[in-house]
This record gives sequence, C-alpha cells and structure tokens, in this order.
Amino acid sequence: QAKRQGKNTFQLYFEEINSRALEYLALERDLHRALERQEFVLHYQPQVNLRTYEVVGVEALLRWNHPQLGQIAPGQFIPLAEETELICPIGEWVLREACYQQRRWQRLGLPPIHIAVNLSANQFKQPDLVHQILLILEETGIDPNYLEIEITESAAMQNVESTIMTLNQLRDVGIQIAMDDFGTGYSSLNAIKHFPLNTLKIDQSFVREVCQDPNDAAIARTVIALGQGLGLQTLAEGVECKDQLRFLRMLGCDRAQGHLFSKSMSPSEFATLMLNRVSFFSCQSIQPHKQF
Ligand code: C2E
Ligand code: MG
Ligand code: MG
Ligand code: MG
Repeated sequence: QAKRQGKNTFQLYFEEINSRALEYLALERDLHRALERQEFVLHYQPQVNLRTYEVVGVEALLRWNHPQLGQIAPGQFIPLAEETELICPIGEWVLREACYQQRRWQRLGLPPIHIAVNLSANQFKQPDLVHQILLILEETGIDPNYLEIEITESAAMQNVESTIMTLNQLRDVGIQIAMDDFGTGYSSLNAIKHFPLNTLKIDQSFVREVCQDPNDAAIARTVIALGQGLGLQTLAEGVECKDQLRFLRMLGCDRAQGHLFSKSMSPSEFATLMLNRVSFFSCQSIQPHKQF
C-alpha cells in the first residue's frame, strides 16, 4: 500500500513538473510572437512630489496582454525574456513606446513630466545601448531631460567600469538616472559615489513596515540622508497609507509613488488625471505622525 502510494506521489510529482515545463515552453513560444502581435502595453504610475503634491513623473510598467491567459505582470515574463534574450527587443520597444507616449501627452497639452523606464540587466549590457537610446530620442523628438532610466543595483554592479562609462554617456546627453530597488542589491557606497545618479528609489520592502519596524525606519532614514548628502533625489516606492507618507515626508523624502496615490493606469486615464489637474494634496492627513 505504502509502495503504491509512493509511486502515485511520484507519478503526480512527475506530471506536475512535466506540465509546468510544457507551460513554460508554451509561454516562451508565445513570448517570441508577442512583439509582432502587438500584445505588450505600457501602464503608467504617477510619481508625486512630496512638497507640492504635484505629479512630477510617471514610471512606465510593462504588461503583456496574452490572448489566452489575459494580462500578465512583468514578474512572470521578464525573467523568461531575460533568459531567452528577448529582453533586448522588448526593452527597446518599451523605450520607444514610452518616448512616443511622452510626445502624445505633450501634444495633448499636458505639463511636462519625466517618464521613467526600467532597464533590465541584459539590456543594460548591450554595447549599442546608448546609440539605441539616442536614435529613439531623435526619432521621437522628446527632451532627454524628461527621460529617466531606472537600473537596478545588480545590473549596475555586473561591471562597474562599463556601468560608469554608459551612465556618463547617458548623463552627458541630459538623461536622468535612477537606482531602482535601492538597498536590496549589492552595490558598494564606493560604486554609488562614481555613478552619475539623479535619484535613489527606496525599495518597497523597506517602505511596507516603515512605521512599525524600527529597522526599516532606520534604513529609510539612512537612504534619505545618503541621498541628501550626495545631492540626489529620493523616491519611495510602494507607499500605500498615510502613515507611511507622513513618516517619509518627515524624513525628507522628495518623491513617492504607490497605491495611496494611484495604481498604474492606461495612457488615457493618466491624461484625464493630468488634464483635471489632480493634486494629491488630500492624500496627506492632518493627524500628527507617530514618533519613535
Ligand atoms: P519596479 O520597477 O520596482 O516597479 C514597481 C512595482 O511595484 C510595479 O510592479 C508596481 O505596479 C508595483 N507597485 C507600485 N505601487 C505599489 C504599492 O503601493 N504597493 C505594491 N504592493 N506594489 C506597488 P509591476 O508593474 O508588477 O512590475 C514589477 C517589476 O517588473 C518592476 O519593479 C520592474 O523591475 C519590472 N518591470 C516592469 N516593467 C518593466 C520594463 O518595461 N522593463 C523591465 N526590464 N522591467 C520591468
Ligand atoms: Mg522601476
Ligand atoms: Mg523599484
Ligand atoms: Mg521594487
């Protein structure tokens, strides 16, 4: 009996693995076709200035509208795209689409805001990345000062020398550079010192319990102080409640994005928001913040 059960368990296990592998292969096959079938869309999440509560930027976030599976979040296909090197054409599409969107918004009469685009590690390693970005800027005619590139510490640290060179080239044409998910990777302060950054993005894992966990509070405080010391803007990710907002403002954080203000939205939803001159002032609260 036990033996039979064992075999059944193994059988089930095997079938499970097998069907996962098949799913994975199917997803990879679909991913290859997704670009030409125009299944990708960008959603945009507002970034808010914490002094004025104005929207000062948006982050472009990739979505895949899969014909059978529905909308798929980047966490589920970016790793696959990285493995198959599809990330480069996909990433190039993201850059171009975000810049065109910026231009469409400008033509609608929206105030100028910067648009932040995530670059993956393999995309960042492409030798012709700077050239590619320059061509897209030329093609779309947008002001490079309003393009912000987001790179993660792990991407930046793979080859510090070439990162410094690439980032300097981008900086020289006026592009802004943000370090994404700051504090979750392995960058050394020495490397940070040499990167021509504009913004440190405080990862949402530190923001989540910033009001409850003294360690997270200490990390947030330190990153903001580091930013101030180095002359960089700080932006808190994943701000979901007023307490977090109040606390981060008290620490001197410059900008924030998160569900408290807005989830990511379609280009037309964002245009409506901006044309109605929405201010997120009401997101703050008059209650005094907790001290510890
Ligand atoms: P990220 O760059 O750190 O983006 C922030 C993620 O946090 C987004 O998830 C966003 O929807 C989510 N988020 C924003 N506010 C809140 C909040 O208040 N609470 C919570 N719980 N989450 C919030 P998303 O869109 O699923 O993207 C996940 C990651 O996928 C991104 O993390 C980024 O690393 C990557 N990604 C997204 N778009 C692209 C892209 O075009 N290219 C590349 N290479 N990576 C991308
Ligand atoms: Mg990002
Ligand atoms: Mg992030
Ligand atoms: Mg993050």
